[in-house]
Amino acid sequence: MSQEAPGRVAVVTGGASGIGLGVVRHLRAAGHQVAALDLQDDALAAAAADLDVLTAQVDVSDRTAVDAAMDRVRSELGPISIIVTSAGIDGNKPFAEISADDWERTLRVNLTGTFNAVQSAVPDLVAGGWGRIITISSSSAQQGAGNRAHYIASKGGVIALTKALSYEYAPLGITANTIPPSIIDTPMSRDSPEMGAHLDAVAGMTPVRRLGTPDDIGAAAAFLASDAAGFITGQQINVNGGWYM
Ligand code: NAD
Repeated sequence: MSQEAPGRVAVVTGGASGIGLGVVRHLRAAGHQVAALDLQDDALAAAAADLDVLTAQVDVSDRTAVDAAMDRVRSELGPISIIVTSAGIDGNKPFAEISADDWERTLRVNLTGTFNAVQSAVPDLVAGGWGRIITISSSSAQQGAGNRAHYIASKGGVIALTKALSYEYAPLGITANTIPPSIIDTPMSRDSPEMGAHLDAVAGMTPVRRLGTPDDIGAAAAFLASDAAGFITGQQINVNGGWYM
């Protein structure tokens, strides 16, 4: 059995809250150095104190800021090997009410933000001849759902982008997979006007009879980031308790 190389450098966008924070915890537990990029300064400070991670307050839709944060990670922690993109915003509106601004903002954060983070980090993965790209998409983009066409379109884009990257980078030792969660108990789902009041009902309809947790996603991401997952690429790793939503 080969030993896991210790202390790889991982960047997690949206790493201050919810799923991203769960991923940060699991990557730290696996022995990696981690940088969390997020908009929320206070939550980043808490993560830095609890988990001993580098933090950078960044809007992932701002390419210049993302590039500057990646440069900081390189200079303080070393070359990046693992990039996980969890930064995202929700959207809850009937299709007819989605404004051009809603559409553009959602695409800019969820899809362009993913593009920015991966493209900014990937030269290090290529130079190292080993890398892991893990995107957080959504089961809603696999199944469809009402009243969130902008969100679902952005997450469908994330799934397609990840598949495209898997072909391009597999020969270079880099895998690319997406995790499309169902409903996970995070600030985003609790604040959702559609879902927030119905989380107990969602738990009851889920085959495993509970909501997902950030740790469920973190554990899957840490496995995908490991040497053991080197033959898994281009996949949608469904972490959904058996329920698509
Ligand atoms: P969350 O709100 O707890 O975390 C999202 C984080 O992203 C926050 O810390 C937020 O500050 C950050 N963020 C938002 N916009 C940003 C930007 N422009 N730049 C940098 N950071 C930004 O929500 P979560 O539930 O943990 O969501 C994480 C990801 O999982 C999202 O992409 C979301 O779409 C996806 N997802 C969540 C669920 C769920 O049920 N919670 C289900 C499927 C997919």
